[in-house]
Amino acid sequence: MDRKRRISIIGSTGSIGTQALEVIERLRDKFEIVALAGGNNVELLKLQAEKFKPEYICYNNKAISPPGDKSISSYKILHGEEGLEQICSDRSTDLILVACSGKAGLKPTLKAIENGIDIALANKETLVMAGDIVMKKAREYGSKIIPVDSEHCAIHQCIKDIRQVDKLIITASGGPFLHKSIEEMRKATVKEALSHPRWNMGRKITVDSATLMNKGLEIIEAHHLFGMDYDDIEVVIHPQSIVHSAIEYKDGSVIAQLGLPSMHIPIQYAITYPERFEGIKSKSFSFAEIARLDFEKPDFEKFPALNLAYFAGRTGGTATTCLNAANEEAVFAFLDGKITLCQIVEITEKMLSGHKVIQNPSIDEIFAIDGEVREKTQNYIKNTL
Ligand code: MG
Repeated sequence: MDRKRRISIIGSTGSIGTQALEVIERLRDKFEIVALAGGNNVELLKLQAEKFKPEYICYNNKAISPPGDKSISSYKILHGEEGLEQICSDRSTDLILVACSGKAGLKPTLKAIENGIDIALANKETLVMAGDIVMKKAREYGSKIIPVDSEHCAIHQCIKDIRQVDKLIITASGGPFLHKSIEEMRKATVKEALSHPRWNMGRKITVDSATLMNKGLEIIEAHHLFGMDYDDIEVVIHPQSIVHSAIEYKDGSVIAQLGLPSMHIPIQYAITYPERFEGIKSKSFSFAEIARLDFEKPDFEKFPALNLAYFAGRTGGTATTCLNAANEEAVFAFLDGKITLCQIVEITEKMLSGHKVIQNPSIDEIFAIDGEVREKTQNYIKNTL
């Protein structure tokens, strides 16, 4: 990079956001922070702002008084969706890392694309909700979408020419219930679901990893990012999380990307792409130390989320919007102790089977469906369970 890259982070106080700032701290001479947006964790946002000196900070709730420290008065304080819109309209920005969780990622991503700003996308829900529109817009406005999700980052690193690729192979650690019985999974507590064996992530994505819905969403994400048919996207369980994903070329050659599990690496790859720097380098890789890598077929019966995601993806239109909204609401209900872990996917399936799919929806239709499905899911949980 011949000059400092001007970057904003949406979701700077979350798991990906804080790790991105750790990467940027190591590469201070490469980046200039335009804006940091966090949800409601104003205290952390304030600490980040003092350290990284952004031009703007943005948080959700206007009612929360701004950080009182005088040192912060040099930053402009923005709020909520309007604030995010302003951040995503600042055309002096080179790259926006969209690292917030759930549906909150879609609007800012679209706004940034419309302003020709490149996106490092950590929020997979954006593509699950509205992948066709997002990718089409990105092509139209010449904005690059660089995946941060470790599997998609791996595939991005492997691909030279997508036209020569026959198959994407997405790896899944299998989550905390991989070798537990269905009965044990039915009785799973929130704490058990949140104890992921390999990755330390936010709560929503960790629950999604326990049901394998996360992998389901990643299948849809991969379909949009790389333009691959669902028939050519395969999931394989790989408990060690060393092979982050792979591609198979037409001639049968398989190229995989490997590394010790750390989100710092895909984040760093995405925000410095196409260059590479030492930055936060993981400890040097040793095949001999790792000694063995295991792979197995996913158990589609135990993890129905996978087939549900394939089904929604193949159906297309608003089916994936519905899948995402129902799942997200059900995950919140599980975290609130209202339903069991297995009910998350059961409820999502129920909502999807009752959904009247709109093909080629407009963005307004997507937001309308998203709202309707969320309400329906909440009512279903309240009234029938
Ligand atoms: Mg992932």
